[in-house]
Amino acid sequence: MADLWAPRRRIEQAYRRSVIRTMEDLKGLLVGLDDPFDIVWAIKRYAGSKAFLRLSEAAAERMVTHLFSDAGRTWRQAARKNSRGRQLYELLQTQMKGPMGSIVLAQIRSNAEIIRTLPLSISEQVNAHVLQGTLAGLRASVIAEQIKAFFPDVTKAKAGLIARTETSKTQTALTQARSELLGLDWYIWRTSKDSRVRDSHKLMDGVLIKWAAPPSPEKLEGADRTYGNYHAGCIFNCRCYPEPVIDLDLIQWPALVYHGGSLRRMTRRQFERIA
Ligand SMILES: [Zn+2]
Repeated sequence: MADLWAPRRRIEQAYRRSVIRTMEDLKGLLVGLDDPFDIVWAIKRYAGSKAFLRLSEAAAERMVTHLFSDAGRTWRQAARKNSRGRQLYELLQTQMKGPMGSIVLAQIRSNAEIIRTLPLSISEQVNAHVLQGTLAGLRASVIAEQIKAFFPDVTKAKAGLIARTETSKTQTALTQARSELLGLDWYIWRTSKDSRVRDSHKLMDGVLIKWAAPPSPEKLEGADRTYGNYHAGCIFNCRCYPEPVIDLDLIQWPALVYHGGSLRRMTRRQFERIA
């Protein structure tokens, strides 16, 4: 069952490419500029241009609708493997036209806004580089050349982080919205189970979590630095994901449950009392 809910890497990869594409036209606008301040100015102007806004909206829309239709398939498959299958299937059908539409739109909007921060965060980096170069006594034209040289790599790195983090956050948000509409209050935190999983998230693997009460994995681990409370997949560079709890028969009891701010091992009976 776990694999069914795992994020589709190709959606993230496609998103990364289309985020990079939103910045493509800017490259042409920088050609011939040999003053670093003209470059910063050109980036800022591009950030406010209609063409860029349109591209960022289109990229966000593609990613969110892709995740949404993919998740639709996943839910239908989950329904089939389930004792509550028929009931769930019917609920899913009615939801398709209902409240999920506005949730999808809100996700598109917030993702487009995140892409829109890209040029400005690049120009901040450019500014820092200009300052450094000036302090080092470099000529303006040399600094300008350096900026143009590192520009594609900076764009790629930032687009990669946006794609990884936001695809996963969006997927969790869609799963949460759908679960809540179906009256499913709990999910199982799943990790990608490889060496790159954070220690604090390894601790969460297989733990039952209530949508209404996200944990702070760092706090549970006893770390000094925490990032607040959040759901699986909802922090930078996280590849974890939620698997909705549809049927308690499919869970191995006793199970780890996040409850009252700590992790507890519970029998099914104990869990049913608090669920
Ligand atoms: Zn994670």
